[in-house]
Amino acid sequence: RLGSSLKDALKKLAGKTVVDRAAVEELVKDLQRALIQSDVNVKLVMNLSQAIKTRSLEEEPLKGMGVREHVLRIVYQELVGLMGPEVEVTLGQQTILMAGLQGSGKTTTTAKLARYFQRKGLRVAVICGDTFRPGAYQQISTLCQKINVPCFGDPNETDAVKIVTKGLKSVGQAEVLIIDTQGRHALEEGLIQEIVDLNTLSKATHRWLVIDAALGQQASEQARRFHQAIDIDGVIITKMDGTAKGGGALSAVAETKSGIVFIGSGETIEDLERFDPDGFISRLLGMGDLKALVERAEEAITTEDVDVNSMLRGKFTLRDMYKQLEAVNKMGPLKQIMSMLPLGNVDIPNDVYEVTGTKMVRYRIIMDSMTNEELDDPAVIGSSRMHRIATGAGASPDEVRELLRYHKTMQRALKGMRGAGGKFNMQRMMK
Ligand code: GDP
Ligand code: MG
Repeated sequence: RLGSSLKDALKKLAGKTVVDRAAVEELVKDLQRALIQSDVNVKLVMNLSQAIKTRSLEEEPLKGMGVREHVLRIVYQELVGLMGPEVEVTLGQQTILMAGLQGSGKTTTTAKLARYFQRKGLRVAVICGDTFRPGAYQQISTLCQKINVPCFGDPNETDAVKIVTKGLKSVGQAEVLIIDTQGRHALEEGLIQEIVDLNTLSKATHRWLVIDAALGQQASEQARRFHQAIDIDGVIITKMDGTAKGGGALSAVAETKSGIVFIGSGETIEDLERFDPDGFISRLLGMGDLKALVERAEEAITTEDVDVNSMLRGKFTLRDMYKQLEAVNKMGPLKQIMSMLPLGNVDIPNDVYEVTGTKMVRYRIIMDSMTNEELDDPAVIGSSRMHRIATGAGASPDEVRELLRYHKTMQRALKGMRGAGGKFNMQRMMK
């Protein structure tokens, strides 16, 4: 129901030519209600609301974009920002230290992660650093046995530092080492000191904080304390298969300035998913199709004068490419159209044909954090600029690289056409 009132609020903006303050405020109120019901921290909701209001009223709608599309785009961008940066999961040598209170799902997630990396072909080992919970070693070693992953532990040892010291020696062959830790019911000095010691001792590559989706406002405090102690670099939200929407965990994202790495979606060892911001946002708002809505809004953008002739003659900027993709997206399968063009020997990777509406939205967000110079001539983008752009857009460097790769491919295709005589009228072809 919340989702539908949000849609109603958006509808009120349709057809408007000037951004209507009252309509934006109404929309923001609906958004606030939805987010707070999903346990998102009030302060975060207020910041987001303010940003949406300010940006909607102050930013110029992109050329060809209606008011509704303009506001929807900003709402979407701000929500994506709330999810924190995208976290890459590397497949190299690494040690992962699990943090979180008892019952959050650390042990279960340790086994799920072991399975995840094992499926990627890596040698995985686990150390049970929980000396607090009775039967802790039994629990994790049983899970590890099921998937044939070695698990080091000692149910008779009460000092976690000693166990991990021994464990580190005995699992020398592992490419991915996951250290499960104790949780207790509340944050105490001893608990924090122990995880600091384990972190120093294991020189952990990652320190991931496990948060129960049902955890509400306490998530901030927990995240802050763990982050101060060991510099959390990723959040895992468990029990997303239940009724909770996981909004509380976004406080952990904000406190740690990290992103969500995985989602736990069930009790079995296979129930682990990589985080998907679009799916998470839709669930948070109780509307299944925000993504589709954004896509439709994008489609509604009128494509203006894609000046093919000037592109054939001169430079081909990122903006040109975007317009191209937009035009082509409106017309149907890119592959079909490209196949009608005399592209010579240009080898176009298959995924270039699959630039969906969602991708287009992401590209637009990435392009928004580029300077004019970069948009005009993407060749100037080196690795430091790439990182700046990625950070600004809440994207991964890989995503930026992908966008640039598409640009290069299309540029090459156009050069091929120019080589083919340039007589070809692409514009007419596309009508
Ligand atoms: P720990 O104390 O942090 O190690 O938490 P555990 O891994 O022992 O998990 C506590 C409880 O939550 C167990 O009953 C798990 O089966 C359950 N659990 C963990 N992750 C999930 C999940 O993603 N979905 C569901 N439904 N249950 C989960
Ligand atoms: Mg445990």
